[in-house]
Parts: sequence; C-alpha cells; structure tokens
Amino acid sequence: MVESFHLKSLSEEDKLIVSKPFLSTEQIQQRIKELSAEISRDYEGKKLLSVGILRGAFMFFADLVRSIQVPMEVDFLNVSSYVKAETSGEIKIHTDLRENIRGKDILLIEDIVDTGLTLNYIKNMLLERQPASLRICAFLDKKPRRKADVALDYVGFEIPDEYIVGYGLDYDNKFRNLPYIAIFKKSL
Ligand code: 5GP
Repeated sequence: MVESFHLKSLSEEDKLIVSKPFLSTEQIQQRIKELSAEISRDYEGKKLLSVGILRGAFMFFADLVRSIQVPMEVDFLNVSSYVKAETSGEIKIHTDLRENIRGKDILLIEDIVDTGLTLNYIKNMLLERQPASLRICAFLDKKPRRKADVALDYVGFEIPDEYIVGYGLDYDNKFRNLPYIAIFKKSL
C-alpha cells in the first residue's frame, strides 16, 4: 500500500498494524449518506440538537451533521471513562453541554458502543434534564461485548470484538486522524 502522510510519524510496527483498512473511507462515507437520509426524514419539523461525544466522535459527528438536511443546533459533551467504568459505567465529565436541552429533540452521536455503560450513563444524565426526545446514533456497535441494555436508534456498522482505531478513535490518543477504520492488535 502507498504510504499516506497519516502514517509517516508512526513506528514501522504501528504502520503495519494500522495501514490496512477494516472499513474504508468510501464505505464510511456511503453509510453516512444512508444514515443522514434516514435521520433527515425522522427529524423533519423537530427541534433537533445534535450532541457529539468527545473526543472519539468528532470526525463522525462532522461528516454526519453536514450531511443531515434539516436545521439543527450542535453541542458537545467531553467525557472519559474511569478505569472502574468497566463495572459502573461512571464517567468523568470534562466539559458539559452549553445548551439547555429541556424541550429539545436530542440526537446523541457516539463513536463506538462497547459495553454500553458509558452511553447508558450519559443517556440517564441527559434524560434528567427533560428533553422532548432523546435518540442515539452510534457509528460502531460492538454488540458481543454489551453489558448495559441501551437501545441504539441509528447504527453505522456492527463490528466484531476487536480494538478499533482511526476515524476519530484512538489508542493512547494516537491514530485519530486516520481517514479509515483499522483493527489495532495490542502487542502483549
Ligand atoms: P463502553 O464500554 O462504555 O460502551 O465504551 C466506552 C468507550 O470506550 C467508548 O466510548 C470508546 O471511547 C472506548 N472504546 C470502546 N471500544 C473501543 C475500541 O475498539 N477502540 C477505541 N479506540 N475505543 C474504544
């Protein structure tokens, strides 16, 4: 494969790991067209506020919202999972929403749902603020690992139980700017 600038600063080992797309840029953009058409139909005439969950969802969020054909507001939640999130789902809120969401139709946009604990925590936190409605759009759904029963309204791709990087998703805050999704095998 021709080396792209995205891979230039990586070690030879990291390059090998991530240079093979699991989901290509074209596949991602095609799926976003389909998702955004569905979302545009569903939110016709509603008070849509799209909420991106940072940092992982930034790239998916930007591509998805620019393809959605209804007026909207945007806002962001910057969160991270604690180590103990594996069991409790408790997360750290680095930056909360700026908007008051009461009475608005919220579309939560997330990068990946693994155990579902993070999203479940965020969903419950936002529901307490009494939005008119709250739906969830997840780019990737790692269904085999689910612990919390959180309903996803829109899903980009269902994926197997693998660690994924690229297109906003990281390993140690690296690989986020890859324009495609790759499977990252952590060497032990
Ligand atoms: P949860 O297990 O609570 O559903 O997922 C928590 C968070 O872990 C996700 O929002 C995401 O940031 C991160 N995560 C889960 N699986 C993966 C993965 O395969 N790759 C990356 N980069 N992050 C993941």
